[in-house]
Amino acid sequence: MANENNTTKVAATTSYDAVIVGAGFAGMYMLHKMRGMGMTARVYDAAKGVGGTWYWNRYPGARCDVMSHDYSFSFDKELEQEWEWSEKYSTQPEILRYANHVADRYELWPDMQFETRIDSAVFDENTKRWTVKTDQGDVISAMHVVMATGTLSAAKQPDLPGHETFAGETYMTSKWPHEGVDFTGKKVGVIGTGSSAIQSIPIIAEQADHLTVFQRTPNFSLPAGNSPTEKKFITDLKSDYPTYRQAAKESFFGVPVEVTDDLALDADKTERDAKYQEGWDSGSLVGVLGAYADLLFDKEANDTAAEFVREKIRATVDAPELAELLCPDDYPFGTKRPCLDTGYYEAFNREDVRLVDLRKTPLDSMDTNGVNTTDEHFDFDVVVYATGFDAMTGAVTRVDISGLDGKKLADEWEGGPQNYLGLCVSGFPNFYVVTGPGSPSVLSNMMVSIEQHIEWIADLMQYMRDNDKSTVDPSIEAQEEWVAHVAEAGDGTLYPLANSWYMGANVPGKPRVFLPYIGGCGPYRERCDEIAAEGYTGFVLA
Ligand code: FAD
Ligand code: NAP
Repeated sequence: MANENNTTKVAATTSYDAVIVGAGFAGMYMLHKMRGMGMTARVYDAAKGVGGTWYWNRYPGARCDVMSHDYSFSFDKELEQEWEWSEKYSTQPEILRYANHVADRYELWPDMQFETRIDSAVFDENTKRWTVKTDQGDVISAMHVVMATGTLSAAKQPDLPGHETFAGETYMTSKWPHEGVDFTGKKVGVIGTGSSAIQSIPIIAEQADHLTVFQRTPNFSLPAGNSPTEKKFITDLKSDYPTYRQAAKESFFGVPVEVTDDLALDADKTERDAKYQEGWDSGSLVGVLGAYADLLFDKEANDTAAEFVREKIRATVDAPELAELLCPDDYPFGTKRPCLDTGYYEAFNREDVRLVDLRKTPLDSMDTNGVNTTDEHFDFDVVVYATGFDAMTGAVTRVDISGLDGKKLADEWEGGPQNYLGLCVSGFPNFYVVTGPGSPSVLSNMMVSIEQHIEWIADLMQYMRDNDKSTVDPSIEAQEEWVAHVAEAGDGTLYPLANSWYMGANVPGKPRVFLPYIGGCGPYRERCDEIAAEGYTGFVLA
């Protein structure tokens, strides 16, 4: 952490093999990988330091919901042996320390530039290079552009009419102040009930004088069962980490869990509930969802798991009407991203916590004193926006990117993201999106997906160098086929039944498209590897 903001803001040279946008885990690994190949690269980030997600999202209660030992790099055996996680689900400060440790360990700092936003990237057909411009006036020439910009990094801005007139404090979970926020003695309103809200609400409730939670859509949340790291478990794991990591790579969600072929509707209720209980007790995102093979594909099967979770909510929340309000009932379990919590439903048993159902009384406006719904005025000292992100595409389309024939990427994606393997966009040579739409990405343990993409991109760069190629660009046919395949895979599941950010439904005007690829991490990796082994089928290398 000592290294935050200690790099020079003036690039030593303005020409690199690659510009890497983003200094989260993806950007840092890309830089490390390229350096190892003897290539030059410079990382740019709008933040003041590394860590991406874990730099920005410092709200109370922020922690990972994939187990710490899974949510860590596997590319260096020494790194994974030396790092010790203190909890099953690590806190944001600990994950940020890990990100800084990675930057220190591999001496990445000199090639990273902070407080610098990439504004535009234009491909020059004559030089076959990108010209990249920053908001600090840098103009950089690069053969490759790697968008390590994150899938959940483009925050939705507060858009309530009158927002700017509010005299109290406002905070976004996705841009939390470094010095923290003291809620003691304050009247607080939280807008949203996604993962960020669900993690922060129990802690804010404890501190604040009174907390009002504005809920538009209830979420399914499962108990994290967080605990200090068990020494024996970690020692055993570390004694054969490579086998474990390999299983993660081959798995569906990037976490090695036992896969079942059992179908929920083949079992009776007693048997099913016993299995769901086991999943519930495991304190993991995939515990209940992974209990049967048909839960994401068959609505009737899914209903059995959804009802199991609803029963848990009813058993936790004392007031029956309030419990019903907190029970999701209009989308299948798992099709909006489920959450892991510590005391979320319990917080609503406090007398100083109130839930407002925005479906009955929608938000209307803000004024000097607080928030108005269509029915009532609420006085607040503090309003917290936990309203989420323009996920998967937002961070990419917010940069002005021009490819061949002056084509703009934002225009090409107007009707939904177009790309091949979720990695490359036809007409935008030498341009890569890490964990982009059309790849397993947010449906997986992101560390596994990040490593896979970075390694695949690095191999492609190496192949180009070895074979004297100056550009790589997916063919339009390969791209169309891939986009159709991603859509077909999504349509075969229950995901399209939810108004989720997976579907782009949380951003007004965004096309309704299932953004990630549900083919599974392992099979997706295999397909990517086959394509590389065949000499990059579907790509035009010139
Ligand atoms: P990010 O960490 O998002 O980093 C992207 C960086 O790019 C940011 O720092 C941003 O400032 C920068 N950037 C973007 N655009 C520009 C630009 N134009 N110019 C300059 N800089 C730019 N995933 C899991 O698998 N498990 C979890 O438990 C988990 N928990 C999460 C918790 C929260 C609160 C959130 C928001 C996400 C979580 N995720 C989780 C997803 C998480 O985003 C990924 O796991 C991972 O951290 C992404 O790393 P990244 O490097 O790809 O992107
Ligand atoms: P989110 O899941 O998109 O939740 C945003 C919440 O705000 C939703 O409840 C949404 O309601 C509500 N909302 C948005 N705009 C609104 C408006 N105009 N009026 C009223 N309500 C509004 O965002 P998030 O909680 O930041 O989480 C995003 C993703 O980041 C997660 O799904 C997860 O992948 C990751 N994450 C993980 C963790 C973790 O546990 N490790 C923690 C935080 C985030 P609707 O549902 O009705 O749109």
